[in-house]
Amino acid sequence: MAQLSDDCFAFGGALLPLHAAQARIAVAHAVKAGTETVALAEAVGRVLAQDAAAPIDLPPTDNAAVDGFALYFDDLAAAAPTTLPVHGRAAAGAAPTGPVPRGQALRIFTGAVMPDGPDTVMMQEDCVIESGRVTVRPGIRRGANRRATGEDITRGAVALPAGRRLMPPDIGLLAALGFPQVEVRLPLRVVVFSTGDEIAAPPAPLRPGRVYDANRPMLSALLRRLGAVVVDGGILPDTLAATQNALRGAARRADLVITSGGVSTGEEDHVRAAIEAVGTLEFWRVAIKPGRPVALGLLDGTPLLGLPGNPVAALVTFTAIGRPLLDRLAGSVYVPPPRFLVRSGFSYRKKAGRREYVRVQLAADGTAHRYPKEGAGILTSLTESDALMELPEEMTALAPGETAPCIPLGLLHG
Ligand code: AMP
Ligand code: MG
Repeated sequence: MAQLSDDCFAFGGALLPLHAAQARIAVAHAVKAGTETVALAEAVGRVLAQDAAAPIDLPPTDNAAVDGFALYFDDLAAAAPTTLPVHGRAAAGAAPTGPVPRGQALRIFTGAVMPDGPDTVMMQEDCVIESGRVTVRPGIRRGANRRATGEDITRGAVALPAGRRLMPPDIGLLAALGFPQVEVRLPLRVVVFSTGDEIAAPPAPLRPGRVYDANRPMLSALLRRLGAVVVDGGILPDTLAATQNALRGAARRADLVITSGGVSTGEEDHVRAAIEAVGTLEFWRVAIKPGRPVALGLLDGTPLLGLPGNPVAALVTFTAIGRPLLDRLAGSVYVPPPRFLVRSGFSYRKKAGRREYVRVQLAADGTAHRYPKEGAGILTSLTESDALMELPEEMTALAPGETAPCIPLGLLHG
């Protein structure tokens, strides 16, 4: 079949499937980040360097889950109310009480240690208290309203694995386990370049034929969200010599070098050739849309990642290739973003053999609608969409009403 000139994916040659590119990243690159110990309060967003094993049971003791009365389930009549004398009182934080005799109840409050003996706690809302005696309704389950020692996590179990990027609930768990500090990975140093004779940055005026640089600030923001230290490489002109020199210099002072633009096959595209000239090229064409030209190379152990210039393609390829690579180098375990199955409100045709990410808006009725402007340079298609619909390699057509996996855009931003 003749190639269509309006199909920028018609260029011949083998495209590397995305999963193969990601697998290569996992085996070909080693963790580069060293480690340091930081106070737990400083650890959010950092990558855990070692498994955090629980030094204690959580909770440390059996305790009451509600305010009420601790009692023996076997003292309760099955079908009628039961009245029991109240034996004493246990408040949260107080030393454990002694054992409670059979046939008696203990006044207890949420978080207080369960006394020896009673196995069940009756909520105070379900009790009538009168002159030192409590009457409880029938129908409670044995063991109700009681939290067991270690039911959250048992001593010695791995609470969080090495490579985990610590999120606020992780900080909560580590705090509950008594960690004052944790060993985390040091931030990666990433040099970010834009390329292109047409790319300008404020305060320079926008001369005819120029566009302002969207990618360097966007990619830097993505990287900072992921905990990297970003070194601004500036804008490279469209020449092979300048690109080579810049890559060589940057590789010496960084853990990772990222460029955008200039990675395709045009006469003004020099990034791939520059990578080949100064280092080794691992791959440069991946079967995803938007994206396709994504170059990954290596120079003296420093990865060089050449992303496409169109901003939407730059973002999609960063999340598909750059993120797994960054996580690998940073000692973080790459966890693909969760996909949610959403009903499509549109029909779509695609070529087999490449994965496509379609920008969609989610309607109140739960259906996904394609963002009306599809160009890979349309930045508002990112700011105004809710999700990327991910259409797998083998799919060729999507009909309205069919479901497809969607990744909320917010989950891609660290
Ligand atoms: P290229 O991959 O260099 O051929 O660029 C593809 C398209 O993306 C061109 O229209 C470029 O002007 C545009 N582009 C490249 N880099 C940037 C950038 N940093 N910011 C905004 N647009 C860019
Ligand atoms: Mg260019």
